[in-house]
Formats: sequence, structure tokens, C-alpha cells
Amino acid sequence: MKYYSTRDTGRRSPCGLDEAAFMGLAPDGGLFVPERIPQVDMERVAQLAERSYADMAAYVAAAIMDDMDPDMLRGAVHAAYDFPISLHEVGDGLYTLELFHGPTFAFKDFGARFMGRVAGLLNGGRQLTVLAATSGDTGSAVAHGFSGVEGVRVVILYPEGKVSPLQEAQMTTLGGNIHPLRVDGTFDDCQRLVKEMFRDEALRRRVRITSANSINLLRWLPQSFYYFYGWAAWRRATGCDEPDVVVPSGNYGNLAAGMLARRMGLPVRRFVAASNANDVVPEFLRTGVYRPRPSVRTVANAMDVGAPSNFERMLWLCGGDPEALRRELCGFSCGDDDILSLMGEMHARYGYLSDPHSAVGYGAARALGADGFWLSTAHAAKFGDAVRCATGAEAPLPPALEAMMRRERHSRPMAADAVALREFLMSLG
Ligand SMILES: *Cc1c(COP(=O)(O)O)cnc(C)c1O
Repeated sequence: MKYYSTRDTGRRSPCGLDEAAFMGLAPDGGLFVPERIPQVDMERVAQLAERSYADMAAYVAAAIMDDMDPDMLRGAVHAAYDFPISLHEVGDGLYTLELFHGPTFAFKDFGARFMGRVAGLLNGGRQLTVLAATSGDTGSAVAHGFSGVEGVRVVILYPEGKVSPLQEAQMTTLGGNIHPLRVDGTFDDCQRLVKEMFRDEALRRRVRITSANSINLLRWLPQSFYYFYGWAAWRRATGCDEPDVVVPSGNYGNLAAGMLARRMGLPVRRFVAASNANDVVPEFLRTGVYRPRPSVRTVANAMDVGAPSNFERMLWLCGGDPEALRRELCGFSCGDDDILSLMGEMHARYGYLSDPHSAVGYGAARALGADGFWLSTAHAAKFGDAVRCATGAEAPLPPALEAMMRRERHSRPMAADAVALREFLMSLG
């Protein structure tokens, strides 16, 4: 399988999986996509899903990464997915696919863990440095994704005093090959520093650096796997075959991966793009006009994206035809007040604590009378303040998070200065 940029319509620059993963973004500014979309056998998927998530994921992964050694791929997938996933009936025949039982208690673990393990394989023993700036969540998912992966080290820059204690604990208690730097500055400073390192040819000749941001092919492809699992579990629970699937969205990697799964053979009746007040995509679906703009802050802040990168992948999946994309998706959006009252409603009616992002999914499922499931993208305990405010209840920390909060934290102070960062990267050897 080769991979191309969404913008390389003449298919002039094929890349192997390793090159595409190393580059992240394609040189022409597009996003990597596969040259063709393989079909999977849905009955096989259903059988394997009963055995384990990892078995099912390894089967789908082998179809889309057909030039990797299947046994090595299987090993990597099993190492990545050593945590539970479950379809949960909230009540009244309403189902949600809980994707937040991984090490950082958010669905980004599905992409980041897979990327960590597979990048370790593709890198073939060479020393690789993953360099990432974070305002909190991405850094923790990437740190856990690559933790303990041989030959790879991760350097994470985060703004000192500007991430939550929980996020800081997730980045700074792993040790080993994970090197967190607390930068005396803002998130924008962290991003600027990282960009400067990537532009520094002299540095790049000495240190092999790569990014691991959310548009990376190795984070995107594995996000299609859990749709298959959700379908199999929902079919077992209800006896029906074609679910509506609601996806709380921000940068739209998640939904674009669902659309990819559908093209691999996944039966879906309707996909719903569910957003918070940052409603560029629902607005596009309604009006036909795509109007990217600066994001606004909401309680579901991981979805605060005003110019979603993966819009380009969604269009590509529709052969570049905006009208085809409008026909494929339904839209839904809601503001902060609605999100909090949806969280309150779920708690009052079903005794279920939801985080604000997943509550947008619940809201869309109710408003559109969806018959299927919504994706739950984060654990309620990660958003304890919002949960308290919406329900009056406490969302207890899962034991693993609590233990992490008590572990000793290690990070290195760093001035917001390119010279200091360059020196540090060199010193790692
Ligand atoms: C990243 C994230 C989202 C949005 O996913 P996209 O793929 O960017 O659309 C939703 N919820 C949570 C909790 C997230 O961390």
C-alpha cells in the first residue's frame, strides 16, 4: 500500500507508510491518505470482535497496511490495546461506545498507542525523537503512546502553570524515554519553538526528529478500527445491522476515520457530525458554505477548533465533491448551556455521569432520534468541575488516575528560547 497527499491528485508522489508517518503533514500541505481502500469481511470482524478488540483491530489493520509483516503488526496492536472498550447502554435503548478506558482516559489513546507501537517497528532500530508542543491533552496521549517504546524518545513542551494538575501528572510521571519540558512561556511559545526546530536543517542532520500530531496517518488510520467494534457490539445487543453513529467532533479526524471505515464495508445508516459552538461543519452541511474561522472557548474544549484540518480528508473521501459530503453527513451543534443541561439530564434520568464532549453526542442522538450509538470521547472524571456544575455530583477518579496523581513528577525547566532547546536535543545524543 502506498499513501498520497490529499492534494496530490495526479498521484505523483507515493510514500511508504514509514515516510508518511515520519513526515506527518505532506510536503504540499495536504494530509496523507491510502492509495486504495481495502474491503473487510464484516462477518469475520464480528467473530473477532467477540474474541477481543486487539484481535479485531489487527485484522482491519492488516487490510489497510498490507505491506507490514502481519505477525509483527499483530504484536504491536496487542501491545497497544491492552485496555478495555465497551458499548454501554445508558438507558431507554440509548447506547454509547465508551472510548475512554485507556491510560489517559480519552479516546486519543486509540490513535496514540497504535502510533507509538507501530512507529517503533517502522523505525527499525534507528534513534528517533518525537517532538511535541502541547496545551495538555495531546502531550499526555503521545507520552503514554510512546512510553517504553525502544529506539524512540519523546520530548514534550508544555507551558508551565498553564496545564491542569491532571494533565501535568500524565506527562511527567512516566520517566524512561519521556522527557517533559516545562516552558517558561505560553502554549504559543511552545509551538513556535517546535516549529523552529523543524526548520533547523543543521539540527535535523544530527537528530532525527518527527512530530506526532493528530493529523499523522498512524494516528488517523487506527481511529477507524473502533467503529467496526462498535457496530459488532451494537448488533449483538440489538439484533439490528445498520446503526446511526454520532461523533462529537473538533478537528474531525475521528469522523473522517469513521467515513473511511464505511468505505471498507462498515454498515452505517447515518453519520452525525456533532459539534459545540464551533459549528463550521454543521453550518457547512446546512448552508453549503464552508467558513473556517477562529475558535471560541467552550466547556468541551478539546473540540474548540474553528478550522478543522481533517475537513480535507472528508472531502477527499467524497471524491472532492462538497455536495456528496453534505449528502453523507447530518449535522448538530449546541452551546455550553445545552451541554451542561444534557449532562444534568443524563445524570437525573439514567444516573450516568458524562463528560462535556460526549454529552454533545448524547444531545445529537436525542435531537435526531438516532438509532445506534454515540462515541464517548473522555472520562467524566477528567472534567470534574463541569460535572459538578451540571449535576452536583462528584465524578470519582479511576484508581489508575488517582495513583498517577500521587506519583512523583519529573520535568525539566526550559526558557522559551530556541538555543536552549536545541542544546537539550543535541545533549540527548
Ligand atoms: C480530540 C477530542 C475530540 C475531537 O476529536 P476530533 O478527531 O478532533 O474531531 C473530542 N473529544 C475529546 C475528549 C477529544 O480529546
